[in-house]
Amino acid sequence: MASEERLRDASYKATDFDPRAAEGPPARARAVVVGGGIIGASAALHLAGLGWTDTVVLERGRVGGGTSWHAAGLMTRTRGTHAQTELASYSRDFYRDVAGLSGVDIGYYPNGSLSLARTPERLTELRYALTLARHHDLPARELSLDEIAAVSPLLSAGDLAGGVLFEEDATLNPGWAAYATAKAAHDFGVRVVEGVRVTGFRLETTPRGLARVTAVETDRGDVECEVVVLAAGLWTRELALLAGARVPLHPAEHYWAQTEPIDGATRDLPIVRDLDGSIYVRHYRGGLLVGAFEPDGRPRTVASIPQDFAFGEFEPDLEHFGRPLARARERVPALERAAFVHYLCAPESFTPDGNFVLGETGEVAGLFVAAGMNSQGIILGPGVGRALATWIDEGAPAEDVADVDVRRFSPAQANAGYLFERTTESLGRLYAMHWPFLQPGTARGLRRVPLADRLAAAGAVFGEAAGWERADWYAPPGERPEYEYSYGRQNWFAAVAAEHHAAREGAALFDLSSFAKLRVEGPGALAGVQRVFTADLDRPPGAVVYTSMLNTRGGVELDATVTRLEEDAFLIVTSAAAQAKAFHWLRRHAGPGVVTDVTSGMAVLSVTGPRSRELLAGLTDASLDDADFPFAQARTIDVGWATVLALRISFAGELGWELYVPLESVPVLYDQLIAAGQAVGLRHAGYRALDGLRAEKGFIHWGLDAGPADTPYEAGLAATLALDKPGGFIGREALLATGPPRRRLVPLLLEDPDSPLYHGETVLQGGRIVGRVTSGAYGHTLGAAAGLAAIQGEPAAVDEIVTGGEVEVEIAARRVPARLGARPFYDPEGARLRGG
Ligand SMILES: Cc1cc2nc3c(=O)[nH]c(=O)nc-3n(C[C@H](O)[C@H](O)[C@H](O)COP(=O)(O)OP(=O)(O)OC[C@H]3O[C@@H](n4cnc5c(N)ncnc54)[C@H](O)[C@@H]3O)c2cc1C
Repeated sequence: MASEERLRDASYKATDFDPRAAEGPPARARAVVVGGGIIGASAALHLAGLGWTDTVVLERGRVGGGTSWHAAGLMTRTRGTHAQTELASYSRDFYRDVAGLSGVDIGYYPNGSLSLARTPERLTELRYALTLARHHDLPARELSLDEIAAVSPLLSAGDLAGGVLFEEDATLNPGWAAYATAKAAHDFGVRVVEGVRVTGFRLETTPRGLARVTAVETDRGDVECEVVVLAAGLWTRELALLAGARVPLHPAEHYWAQTEPIDGATRDLPIVRDLDGSIYVRHYRGGLLVGAFEPDGRPRTVASIPQDFAFGEFEPDLEHFGRPLARARERVPALERAAFVHYLCAPESFTPDGNFVLGETGEVAGLFVAAGMNSQGIILGPGVGRALATWIDEGAPAEDVADVDVRRFSPAQANAGYLFERTTESLGRLYAMHWPFLQPGTARGLRRVPLADRLAAAGAVFGEAAGWERADWYAPPGERPEYEYSYGRQNWFAAVAAEHHAAREGAALFDLSSFAKLRVEGPGALAGVQRVFTADLDRPPGAVVYTSMLNTRGGVELDATVTRLEEDAFLIVTSAAAQAKAFHWLRRHAGPGVVTDVTSGMAVLSVTGPRSRELLAGLTDASLDDADFPFAQARTIDVGWATVLALRISFAGELGWELYVPLESVPVLYDQLIAAGQAVGLRHAGYRALDGLRAEKGFIHWGLDAGPADTPYEAGLAATLALDKPGGFIGREALLATGPPRRRLVPLLLEDPDSPLYHGETVLQGGRIVGRVTSGAYGHTLGAAAGLAAIQGEPAAVDEIVTGGEVEVEIAARRVPARLGARPFYDPEGARLRGG
């Protein structure tokens, strides 16, 4: 029987996976994986590969019978980021080889994939992907329209702007891929038990209220365990809630349709992605399979999906699916005459930012998740299973998982109503233009800063981060306060230039209220923060210290500023996206200090620029002189009618103060700052300007420039290490045992004033790839895009590259000359920050 025919082979459904299944689940296992889809099977297999053979997979129905059963089987290697391209690349190789491992033929066929552009902007986007593919040595090339017609003769290509062929992409049978992966896990000693429903969890709670999972409860008995992996697809959010963890994902309908055989529909036809048409087309059993990523997606509540849903389908709404299908007929004229033999509508789950969720939940130790695959579970599944298994085995992630870490979301984002509305656009997002700075169009306003209305009146254009609405930039009077997207300069370029210059030359006001703010206090607080953070925090009250928090592998989990408020009280400030991680991490590791999340009680206004002192001096009796109020110090002072905690620091790299103020006092503080600010030309400024200012200074952006797989030496954070402080810190031993750094973050400046930098672009020297840009933004003082690049190699090799002359940056398949710097290009001594 050909493998594709087995997809619908009913005999499989009737067969128990594991001959021991009749016995039910074991009473104990080291790890329990909930869900036997591609993700659960892969997690189990990779755990077994690391020696965790005492693992059991509990599947309510049949292995592969969830969403994995319905996938279209598109396998592609190039994704939007380096990290996910590496995961997908591994996945492709895994699928190529899994038949040998499991004895199950998954119908893997390397027919390649062709992404089409209907517009020049989309072609630019594809060229970014081309650069990424080349970086990873994945064969890909841009095709002319004639070449497109030659590789895919069924296409109507005349209206296209172009296309890119990814030669090593493939198709496969997804249900059998899940089955084969589970079979391989089984052969490694994992128990795969079908027909067992997980109904709850047993937790043990410490006197400090910290929870750890100790067992899963099922309809066929409990299984004690050390670790649980929730890989239950669209049911993961509801299951996690039973344990007290909030995991934001939500199901939506997803469609494809299969035709009868069509002349010329051979299996060698590459997969076609007509991204602007929101459709894809692949060969399937002598015919074609047409799938849609329509912009008007249809969320389904979990309650509307039967609990025993397995191999299931929903009634398709042909009016809804008819719209993308009409576009498919334009692209592939043979579809006009073809009869469709199967319309499929099945659920897949999506997250608020389009990335999956991975890792240990903050709320419950030992409870891991791998779910919310945003219609890429087949593409990423083997890589995701490997990344998770390593995380579990080593106690910390070994790969760059910053943008998929389950703790990046606010608990507020697991709200069902918010998720339902956001999910209307999630499906379409996959094929929509991936513009730089693209903002969600739905479910906005979940978390607003107290000054939102005032900032909006000043022209603020908001961007979303961890559910917060933050002022990204301010539209000048007469201009529409809206993003107009482009891969070139966007409509805010001039406005942000003015904000930038205000911060460098006058004074600028940033609302940074979305910062995560946590207090650690009480007896033992010092010992707790000393253990968690890398710097020596035993400084006199008033000291503000920039530091980092490491995992046990020595990887950077976040960066933060820590202020010693009193002998036994510390204020920790970190990024909005690190709020949940920092809170749970501190609760777990900073004992016996008491940890309180005060994010929602405090607003933050940053006043920065050479005239910021003059501005504040008019509103306070406190001395702001360098002698009385030096850099990296905090004081409680009156500013106008507000009493604030003022920190003399600035992410813009200028003289400046961050003012931490109770929510109820921020309106009066703001009004008085704005009124007094007229005299110094104070200007509102937003996150776009802040990004350019910090890029010029070479300040890191955690998540882009650094993440849990980087040591502080690799992440430009060596200065935050106090290796000799009493008692050490988490990650210190691993750092001491680790070999030399494998890369270094280095400031980079383009020579061309017009080219943009975002992140991920390739850095070359003498035609050889030497690294990649980790973050970049336009530097209005330097007059070109600036940023940081991770240059590969041990320290001497990196030195040689940095001093070795000009480099080039490949941006959307075009090379642009650039310079690397041993030190930041703007104010390398930090004189402006330290001495006013
Ligand atoms: C129409 C369609 C086309 C798609 N095409 C592609 C594609 O071409 N490429 C691609 O990469 N992705 C594609 N996807 C997405 C892909 O199928 C999913 O991302 C992937 O299958 C998710 O795998 P999973 O293991 O997370 O979920 P699932 O396969 O749903 O597995 C989860 C399992 O958990 C089990 N479970 C749930 N609750 C419990 C419980 N309480 N106790 C025990 N077990 C439980 C379920 O029964 C289920 O088997 C497509 C999806 C759809 C719907």
